[in-house]
Amino acid sequence: MNIKESFKIKFGNNLKEDVNLASYSWFNLGGNAEFFFKPNNINQLIEFLIEAKKVKLKTTILGAGSNTLFRDKGVKGAVIKLGSNFTDIKIIGDDIIEAGAATLDRKVANFAKANNIANLEFLSCIPGSIGGAVIMNSGCYENDISKVLLSIKILNKKNLKESEIKKEDIKFFYRGTSLVEDIIIISAKFKGLKSDRDKIEKKQSDFIEKKKLSQPSQIKTCGSTFKNINKDRKAWMLIKESGCNNYSEGDAAISQKHCNFFINNGNAKSIDIENLINKVKQTVLAKTGVNLELEIKIIGE
Ligand SMILES: Cc1cc2nc3c(=O)[nH]c(=O)nc-3n(C[C@H](O)[C@H](O)[C@H](O)COP(=O)(O)OP(=O)(O)OC[C@H]3O[C@@H](n4cnc5c(N)ncnc54)[C@H](O)[C@@H]3O)c2cc1C
Repeated sequence: MNIKESFKIKFGNNLKEDVNLASYSWFNLGGNAEFFFKPNNINQLIEFLIEAKKVKLKTTILGAGSNTLFRDKGVKGAVIKLGSNFTDIKIIGDDIIEAGAATLDRKVANFAKANNIANLEFLSCIPGSIGGAVIMNSGCYENDISKVLLSIKILNKKNLKESEIKKEDIKFFYRGTSLVEDIIIISAKFKGLKSDRDKIEKKQSDFIEKKKLSQPSQIKTCGSTFKNINKDRKAWMLIKESGCNNYSEGDAAISQKHCNFFINNGNAKSIDIENLINKVKQTVLAKTGVNLELEIKIIGE
């Protein structure tokens, strides 16, 4: 029996072969994953990782795909997506919420609001999942994950052990953390502040409104392509200053509303987005001396 057959027997419908990844990325682009695995629960996830290790199958963990560009030739090994079985959300103290890693950020914001817990309103503006938000230290409007996180529960892909990591043991920086690629986040605990629901509602809708005005919507994008340098030197400013805001490559273009948002206009290939990224990066470096760093993750062959 070859690997594919034995995997199919063990993991049934949770494991699929040759799955196109376009519908799992907000760019709506990318080739196929050799395997695509959606575990039922943590035990099945562990079982899968044991089998994957035996045959040296590479594994890549994916959240909501709102920060990920898959390359056209796809991803070797297995892409693991935690699904609805990892979306439990509960109150575990007056102002503490625990959410499964696959829970969408906006659901956590809404849950906090429904339970009169403030300070998580910013999550309503980030279109990813909790796992992705922690890894990216996502944030907006003066807040980010590092300011509200208490701890994460993880599964270590190397030793297959589960553990809890306290926020104090994680280094957070702008759009990143010290967390290594060998971990899979299973859930996260957040601490907010008890408050009045009307105030939370107002803050949340103000944030959503502000986002609508400053960022394009209903387009195929992964949000900010490059990291900002600092508050006064944002990536979009450098892109504009360097005259790149009208650049395009094939059907990949730059949003006219926010020039750090790169877009698939419908028929782009991942390579078009990557070529556009490189063209902008080189121009900005030549014109301003700044070497822009990617915020989005590029995965695949
Ligand atoms: C329209 C738009 C607006 C955006 N606005 C903002 C914004 O205001 N602020 C901001 O910070 N970001 C913003 N983003 C970017 C994006 O939404 C965030 O980076 C988000 O947190 C990514 O979450 P995700 O689940 O989609 O991650 P993915 O893109 O799926 O993955 C991102 C990274 O996290 C890792 N990962 C995901 N889940 C897990 C897990 N369970 N365990 C371990 N690793 C995991 C992946 O391997 C990958 O390295 C925006 C994106 C879009 C499309």
